[in-house]
Amino acid sequence: MSQDHPSETDIACYSQTTPPESDTFDAIIVGARIAGAATAALLAEQGARVLLLDSATFPASTVSCPVFYGNSMAMLERIGVLDVVDAIGAPRITRYGTRSPDLDLVARLPHAHGRDFAYSIRRERLDTAVLRRVQTYPGITLREGFRVSDLLWGAGQVVGVRGRQNGGPEETIYARMVVGADGKRSRVARAVNAPIYDRITGDTAIFYAYYRNFTPLEEPSAIVNLEPESRQAALVFDADNGLTVISVGVPSAQFAAARTDPEGTLERTWRSFPELAVRGHNAIRETPVVGQGPTDSFYRQSYGPGWALVGDAGHYIDPITGQGINNALRSAELFAAAWARTRRRTSWQWAMAGYQRRRDAETRPMYNLVAFGRRVQPAVDAGLDIWTPLLQAIARHPEITTHYIGIYNGATRVDAFFSPANLTRILIQDGLRYQLPRFAIGTLSRALAT
Ligand SMILES: Cc1cc2nc3c(=O)[nH]c(=O)nc-3n(C[C@H](O)[C@H](O)[C@H](O)COP(=O)(O)OP(=O)(O)OC[C@H]3O[C@@H](n4cnc5c(N)ncnc54)[C@H](O)[C@@H]3O)c2cc1C
Repeated sequence: MSQDHPSETDIACYSQTTPPESDTFDAIIVGARIAGAATAALLAEQGARVLLLDSATFPASTVSCPVFYGNSMAMLERIGVLDVVDAIGAPRITRYGTRSPDLDLVARLPHAHGRDFAYSIRRERLDTAVLRRVQTYPGITLREGFRVSDLLWGAGQVVGVRGRQNGGPEETIYARMVVGADGKRSRVARAVNAPIYDRITGDTAIFYAYYRNFTPLEEPSAIVNLEPESRQAALVFDADNGLTVISVGVPSAQFAAARTDPEGTLERTWRSFPELAVRGHNAIRETPVVGQGPTDSFYRQSYGPGWALVGDAGHYIDPITGQGINNALRSAELFAAAWARTRRRTSWQWAMAGYQRRRDAETRPMYNLVAFGRRVQPAVDAGLDIWTPLLQAIARHPEITTHYIGIYNGATRVDAFFSPANLTRILIQDGLRYQLPRFAIGTLSRALAT
């Protein structure tokens, strides 16, 4: 089927060819990385017969230099894979935060879900470790190298997929539902024409690579180094296998030039930070430079008749927030819980609407923080910077800094931190050295809450 939507003829055709019940999977999941593997594990745990498909053959890397935290580890533990992730032996990152010439907002990570550290693990190792465990679970069939090209429709709903194994002959496979865990450019989302209902225009490109011999800090760390004037950022995370991942952010306006020389852009940017230049004096780049151009954050309609989206396919947020893996795992949990409700007589529509609503409610505050940052950027560029003085006020108080750092690992609620009461408390504790006007407190809090 070449078009994205079923025609009357398609519907008739597929309803007539739907195979016997016994040959049908309960779920086909397209995409077998974090969101897909977690969804498969959670459905199989409920007795579902799951077919997990990915066009990649693992180990396979993807564009992502991931740091993830205690909240994600708790979910990895719940699906029975944390031990294989721990066994990779990545350093436990305990210091986290942001540094610029006029700001030192770095602290120890607070406890979140029983853990006070983060990991940064190359995706080919992380995703492969998780997948190799999940594929052993009863009820799960994994096919790597299988690219889904389209969906099958019957009686107005999705009933399966069409695709090819390693470019071989086309196959059709049937299931009671198809779950797109196939990333932000989701093929499943395109096939069902799932609309995007909220969007933040991306304003930063990212380039990164892994290095050896980059001198670590005393404690394993993940630190964002900022140069506000040039709006450049260099993120330095201690990763697995003695490696350090360095990513740089490049504003949209400079992307066209930067993409002609990714290696030079990466090297020049991080070496322009004096501390990093010293620590990286003997650093050797071990991997090619990869990255992505400015990419919009969004919420996409994530369910319909016979289909659903989890992970980046349904909601994507600027990677600078470091929330993607956690959001992917959490959406898998929420989706699997909603599916369980459909088996207790809740209608698919009702259960899935609940899934999407809950996912959005949990992720909105951080998303709104990104949106707010974009909205105030022109004012910041024009010299009306409300952020830096607020962050400086936070940084002057170690316990508030720790509380702030907790918005990234789930120890602190974003909306609670930026509530009028908490911002006022911070300013009073700071002796009102920085007087954020009342209207700014209100605007900030309202913007994050909506
Ligand atoms: C530069 C960068 C840095 C990042 N850094 C972080 C970070 O530090 N921390 C963090 O938490 N998040 C980070 N993220 C975000 C994180 O990578 C994603 O949120 C996360 O990988 C989403 O997982 P997923 O399983 O939804 O999708 P993906 O990881 O994108 O996996 C989708 C899978 O679907 C498969 N697929 C796609 N189409 C098809 C098809 N037609 N047929 C079969 N298979 C298909 C793909 O092969 C792929 O394996 C970063 C992202 C980027 C781009």
